[in-house]
Amino acid sequence: MATDKYIKNYINGALLPPDSGAYFDNYNPATGKVYSQIPDSDAKDVQLAVEAAERAFPAWSKTDVNTRFRILARIADIIEQNLEEFAKAETIDSGKPIKTSTTIDIPRAHQNIRFFATAVLHFASESHHMPGEAINYTLRQPIGVVGCISPWNLPLYLFTWKIAPALATGNCVIAKPSEMTPMTAFLLAKACMEAGLPDGVLNIIHGYGPKAGQAIVAHPKIKAISFTGGTETGKKIIQTAGPMFKKMSLELGGKNPNIIFADCDFDEMMIGTLRSSFTNNGQICLCGSRIYVERSIYDKFKTEFVKRTRFLKVGDPFSTVTDMGALVSKAHMEKVMSYLALAEVEGGTILCGGKPVKVKGEYEEGYYLSPAVIEGLPIGCRTNQEEIFGPVVTITPFDKEEEAIAMANGTQFGLSATVWTKDITRANRISEQLHAGIVWINCWLLRDLRTPFGGVKASGVGREGGLEALRFFTETKNVCVKY
Ligand code: NDP
Repeated sequence: MATDKYIKNYINGALLPPDSGAYFDNYNPATGKVYSQIPDSDAKDVQLAVEAAERAFPAWSKTDVNTRFRILARIADIIEQNLEEFAKAETIDSGKPIKTSTTIDIPRAHQNIRFFATAVLHFASESHHMPGEAINYTLRQPIGVVGCISPWNLPLYLFTWKIAPALATGNCVIAKPSEMTPMTAFLLAKACMEAGLPDGVLNIIHGYGPKAGQAIVAHPKIKAISFTGGTETGKKIIQTAGPMFKKMSLELGGKNPNIIFADCDFDEMMIGTLRSSFTNNGQICLCGSRIYVERSIYDKFKTEFVKRTRFLKVGDPFSTVTDMGALVSKAHMEKVMSYLALAEVEGGTILCGGKPVKVKGEYEEGYYLSPAVIEGLPIGCRTNQEEIFGPVVTITPFDKEEEAIAMANGTQFGLSATVWTKDITRANRISEQLHAGIVWINCWLLRDLRTPFGGVKASGVGREGGLEALRFFTETKNVCVKY
């Protein structure tokens, strides 16, 4: 399954150039060099894709679930069989370490597809009996043509997380990956062709968000939008899709708290907190970027955490000893660095990191940054309120449980939260009060695909995962039969 220099759209079962014939550069963030070309697609390409999807829908929506399961499972198998190639493509596109692509991103992509392929076999609907009078039963029918738009941080992982439940429930899909990480979506198109997915059932459009993405959101025939990305983009999507009464699932930004109590298992917490702070260069919506530590262990925590952060190896994503590769783009690195400068203006002290790292040889022009730990910032400052989405965390001491909860809840976001304590009563009490869609106690990013996934407040609307995703991608209809 080869990666080509010219990426193509996948429309009506074929790999096509964009209608305009225009392409733009795809950078390898580890080297800072252009390595492939991305179709600059527009509304015309989306129109072609929608027409293909509409043609495919009557047959696909009526295809029995066993056949849908078999085709989707075949796609999952092809990804798994080509793990190395997919992982390599993901690493070149995103700058993340090859060990992350190989052990997290790509395995999760084929697991997503298999999970929803099998889930639909068990998907059932309810009936409500009115004794002696009538029976109500619920139909859950595919919506039609739906749009799936995903970000660059977990490219194939999040792309498949949306596409798989949409296809499994009988919808036809127009999907767009981020223009920064399109290659594994291109490989997915090839896998779908090899697996025999009928033409037009899945269509993948490449290009810029405000152009190709916006054309998907605004298309009148696309009836639902499943979007993962930034909160500001989410607002734009609501402005377009809201007045068109489209069904929407929006998974948006986070600024997640990590609350550490003195009674935690210190070693486990330290390993977990390093992971939740810097995995994927902090470019995961679920990373815990605000760390609150009970004052009695604050100094001990600070010393050990800074020591271990300094020890993290930043560099060549293809080296197996690398912990952190390149940030996804030059613009993103500049954005993260602007927050480091802001943190100092706001009164923070950078305890370690926050400096560009020069990696020798072919990686000299790559976008590398050493992981940063900042202390001494007020709770309400921008550094503590806005999503940075990079290898930057702030640490703050607290005295009382209520104070920690208030600080944790004190942003516009509400995606996830982590709590480290051996006191299970306290853990449950706090979980109830946190403004978050996901709470991890004494762990982080431990995922069961059956669980609901999503955020509150500015972190999103709706839930993905398990039955929630199957419900999102189906319309519910009640049929009442009097007897
Ligand atoms: P963006 O919001 O910039 O982009 C997300 C996707 O939307 C991309 O495919 C992008 O295309 C596209 N897009 C951009 N503008 C529009 C538009 N006007 N209409 C339609 N589509 C558009 O997010 P990032 O890619 O920068 O991803 C990082 C963000 O994603 C962070 O805020 C992070 O927290 C969030 N995220 C949330 C998750 C969650 O589950 N809650 C999980 C992972 C990330 P293009 O890139 O080509 O411009």
